[in-house]
Amino acid sequence: MAESERCPVCGMQVEPQSSLSESYDGKTYHFCSSDCRAAFQQEPQSYVSEST
Ligand SMILES: [Zn+2]
Repeated sequence: MAESERCPVCGMQVEPQSSLSESYDGKTYHFCSSDCRAAFQQEPQSYVSEST
């Protein structure tokens, strides 16, 4: 279970090894597609969860 990540944009499960990734605020996020990554890059704060 810890092996998989979720695309923060659409919530789909992605495999970290084979997905697109982007670093933001010291964390690495993984995306299911370049479209989701582009959406994240435009407005990252809309997609990161404030879980602290
Ligand atoms: Zn996605």
